Amino acid sequence: MSQPQALYRLQKIDTELDARRARLREINALLEGNAELRAARSTVEQLKDELSPREASVKSMTLENQSVASQLAELSTRLYDGTVSNPKELQDIENKIDELKRHRGQLETKLLEEMMAVEELQASLAEASSELEAVEAAWSGDRAALRDEQRRIKTEGRALKTERETALAAVDEDNRVLYDELRSQRQGLAVALLKGDTCSGCRIDQTANVVIDVRRGKEIVTCTSCGRILVSP
Ligand SMILES: [Zn+2]
Repeated sequence: MSQPQALYRLQKIDTELDARRARLREINALLEGNAELRAARSTVEQLKDELSPREASVKSMTLENQSVASQLAELSTRLYDGTVSNPKELQDIENKIDELKRHRGQLETKLLEEMMAVEELQASLAEASSELEAVEAAWSGDRAALRDEQRRIKTEGRALKTERETALAAVDEDNRVLYDELRSQRQGLAVALLKGDTCSGCRIDQTANVVIDVRRGKEIVTCTSCGRILVSP
């Protein structure tokens, strides 16, 4: 095999390997973070944080309401069961009853508002939780597919690396150095096909002499513009 063809074979393998490395990086990024899933989880957490103090407040207001009701019952009994006959004391009891009834009225209004807010939040939480479940289910399917792809690419990558060893062995030392330099300077593409008179790496037309030399395929010819090694298909 001529040196240009040996380099071209090496380039094709490296291009395949580069594509797999890029896809593996993408897959790793996807497996690490899923924005949709994070957003769905955060909505559920936020609603839970809002809901729990309000549920606690409904509970404590309900208890207070019961306590007020029993105080009222006790005072009404004292007012009418004849145990208190002092008019001043009876008046005090009546005043206390009025005060407690006002308090109960305010308490019931607040409790009703709070219970409505809790119901709304509970409905939102139920909705957000089922949304989260759906996203999680979809994501676990996606993740399994990504893991499969990851395994497949790694297997293909190992086979390509073996092929690369063979291809590299056919390239002379000087040409390896040139190839590596061009790979690092030219976005991974050291060897470009000559299509007609044009370098496919930089789309610049080549001189007639360059075209003839490339087509002959005996020696290394580089593009007059980008410096890539040119080969004829
Ligand atoms: Zn070029």
